[in-house]
Amino acid sequence: MPLVYTIVLLILIVLAICAGRELWRGAGWLRNRLFPGNAHRRKLLEKSFAYYCALSPAERRRFERRVADFLADKEFTARGDLTITEEMKTLVAACAVQLTFGLPPVRLRHFRQIILYPEAYFSTVDRRYHLGEVNAAGAIVLSWKHFVEGYRVPNDARNVGLHEMAHALLLENRTRDDGEYDFLDQRSLDHFLECAEAEHARSQRGEPALLRAYAHTNPAEFFSAAVEVFFENPAAMTREAPQLYGALKDLLHQDPARRAVPGTSGV
Ligand SMILES: [Zn+2]
Repeated sequence: MPLVYTIVLLILIVLAICAGRELWRGAGWLRNRLFPGNAHRRKLLEKSFAYYCALSPAERRRFERRVADFLADKEFTARGDLTITEEMKTLVAACAVQLTFGLPPVRLRHFRQIILYPEAYFSTVDRRYHLGEVNAAGAIVLSWKHFVEGYRVPNDARNVGLHEMAHALLLENRTRDDGEYDFLDQRSLDHFLECAEAEHARSQRGEPALLRAYAHTNPAEFFSAAVEVFFENPAAMTREAPQLYGALKDLLHQDPARRAVPGTSGV
């Protein structure tokens, strides 16, 4: 084939790809008709999830895909008088995606069970009331009331959803049996642990600590509490513990301090 035909053919192929992408972008209404569940989920995210609202259109599509992937193999169970709704599923998934959005796709596959209680629940193991927990057998447990509160007050550095997802993330990273294993960069994780140690030493010396006392129970609790502050009060973390902020930024590949996330969210 003469060179000129080859060039013309290549140009036509590129133009066709560009036109196809534009058509796909512009045909949101068609997508919504073909996949009405997705449209409903999108509305829920727009209404209730500030993190999603601050994303670019392309990032929003990626976020939606990850929400759908997360939900693909999850089984939700309600306790007490709670009824599981599409909104609950979407927002729990969105919470997991928020935490893992900078990482290669991670669905927390080991955790197939999501158990929702209407509010704080009594644990017969330690005879205390819990707001949430993660168990190694593969369940993420949350008080729905407190999950909602975690997002309703977006800057108090308390978010039980992110806290439990952070526990699940560390466990998933060490779970070999489901294809999601060792996805966190070990050097970044080591650096985070060094910073955590330094913060812990500061608190032991009685110096003002950024994280609440409970964070100093053990490294896993420190990670979960640090994740809450990282997303909910990144300005304080960059100011008071810049090394810790940098370590989490490198580990999660996210920089919430530089992203203007709207301050209100009505879950
Ligand atoms: Zn915890």
